[in-house]
Amino acid sequence: MYAIAIHGGAGELSRQALSGEREAHYRDGLAQALDLGYEVLERGGTSLDAVTVAVRSLEDNPLFNAGRGASLTREGVAELDAALMEGHTLRAGAVAAVRHVKNPIELARRVMDKSRHVLLVAAGAEEFALEEGLTLVPNTYFRTPERQAELDALRSGRPASELIPSTQGTVGAVALDAAGNLAAATSTGGMSNKRPGRVGDSPIVGAGTYARNGACAVSATGHGEYFMRIVAAHHACAAVEYRRLTVQDALRETLGRLRELGGSGGLIAVDSAGRIAMDFNTQGMFRAARDSAGQRQIVI
Ligand code: ASP
Repeated sequence: MYAIAIHGGAGELSRQALSGEREAHYRDGLAQALDLGYEVLERGGTSLDAVTVAVRSLEDNPLFNAGRGASLTREGVAELDAALMEGHTLRAGAVAAVRHVKNPIELARRVMDKSRHVLLVAAGAEEFALEEGLTLVPNTYFRTPERQAELDALRSGRPASELIPSTQGTVGAVALDAAGNLAAATSTGGMSNKRPGRVGDSPIVGAGTYARNGACAVSATGHGEYFMRIVAAHHACAAVEYRRLTVQDALRETLGRLRELGGSGGLIAVDSAGRIAMDFNTQGMFRAARDSAGQRQIVI
């Protein structure tokens, strides 16, 4: 059995704001990332490679809030965060507040594979990217007119969701490979209009991203300040491992905890048997799933 699920963010998304054509572009972007990840699993590749490939594809897609098309700080600059984790070794790699790394998820992978550390931030992370020969780009590469409009709207007090489907829109993937190993990855530009230097849940192991064989793999999206405070991704995994909740119930319960604090967002998870759960307490979440039993769904 192998399986993959991805998300492209959760948020307050009205049906009217998402035109038929726009919705089709989102669906295409999700389908492309899903199938790229799935093909890795189909060839017998690892879940870690599958989530890396899927997230990289969403980073390259300007519709989503990660890589190109990332949300902007209040100064109009893209600052990116990403993390990934491998379930059988509990190895993890993460980067935060990088401004020039074209694919932050690849840098997170290098941090895991090639450094003695788990999390590198800002200039130190970019120095490492340079040493590793990763592609660096000017910050303008990440900025799109839609994100600039979103920032302008937020700054003037207008609701941004009229202009762009999600004020959030982080991307993530979770997978189980044929060898029975789990992995999770998340990448984001964070929250629009954030302070420079603000880091959310996505690159924090246990908060926005977590994977542990025997439990599950989780990637989160939503208001990071709340996900960090309940250590959301780890909370869901612990509920599966210690309390024997299904992934579905574990995500529901985690969202309940989030709601108690006033937080909103969504989570995706896959367990060691390939069962997938995708849940949220916002109006919508871009999400998709595919497994070797023949399931393939793309839902907004
Ligand atoms: N969780 C991300 C953050 O707080 C944002 C998002 O998911 O859209 O940085």
